[in-house]
Amino acid sequence: MSLFHPVNLVCPHCEAPVTMMAVGSVNADRRPDLREDILEDRFQDTGCGACGEGFRLQPQFNYLDAGRGQWIAAMPASRLRDHLELEDEAKALFDTSYGAQAPAAARDVGNGLAVRLTFGWPAVREKLLIKQLGLDDTIVEMMKLHILRSVESVPIAEGIELRLVEADEEADGYVFAWLETGSELFLEYMTIPAELYRAIQGNPEGWAAIRQRLENGCFVDMQKLYMGEGRRPG
Ligand SMILES: [Zn+2]
Repeated sequence: MSLFHPVNLVCPHCEAPVTMMAVGSVNADRRPDLREDILEDRFQDTGCGACGEGFRLQPQFNYLDAGRGQWIAAMPASRLRDHLELEDEAKALFDTSYGAQAPAAARDVGNGLAVRLTFGWPAVREKLLIKQLGLDDTIVEMMKLHILRSVESVPIAEGIELRLVEADEEADGYVFAWLETGSELFLEYMTIPAELYRAIQGNPEGWAAIRQRLENGCFVDMQKLYMGEGRRPG
C-alpha cells in the first residue's frame, strides 16, 4: 500500500498556509505511476493557492518495488550528515518489515530486495534510473570517484553533488550532472563514455576495497567517503 498523510506547510514565497498530502510509503508494484512521478521529477510537487508559487516537499518515505528488487529509505537532503544514524534506522525498519524480524512471507519478499538509503530527490531518482538501466549502483559511484580524480575543476562543496541523470545511447555514454541537492538546481552536465562503466566492471579486484567501503551500510553513495570517519569496517 502507498500511504499518504496531510501535512501543513508554509508557502516559501508568501507564507500562506498550504496543506498537502505527504507520502509516507510508496509501493511501486501497486502504484507504478508514483515511480514514474519520481523519475519525471514531479513527485510531491505542490502549489500555493494564494500566490501560485510551486514548490516541492522533501522526500521522507520508504519505497518498495518488489518486482525490481528495490527497497529505499528516501530521506530529506538536509539529513545527509546523519547518514550513519539513519542507516541504522533504515536497517532496523527493513529488518522488521522484510528482514530477520519479519514474518516468513515478508522475508521471502525481502530476500530479493536491495536496501538503500538516499538523501534528496536527485539521489532517490538516480537509484530508480540505475535500476531501469540495468546498472550496478556501486559501479556508478565508482565512476563518480573516477570523474572526481580525472577532471580539472569540480564544483564540489557541501550541498553540491554529482548524479547520473540519463543514458545517452547515441553517444554510448551516461550523462552526469553537478547539482544543488536541496533546490535541484542543475549546474553542469557531462557525458561520460560507457566504456568507463565497463572498465570498472571488468576489474572487480582493482575496485574491491572501494566496493567494500561503499557497500558498508545501505547508504551506497561516494559522499560517505568524504564525510567524517565513516563507519568502522566490518
Ligand atoms: Zn504563496
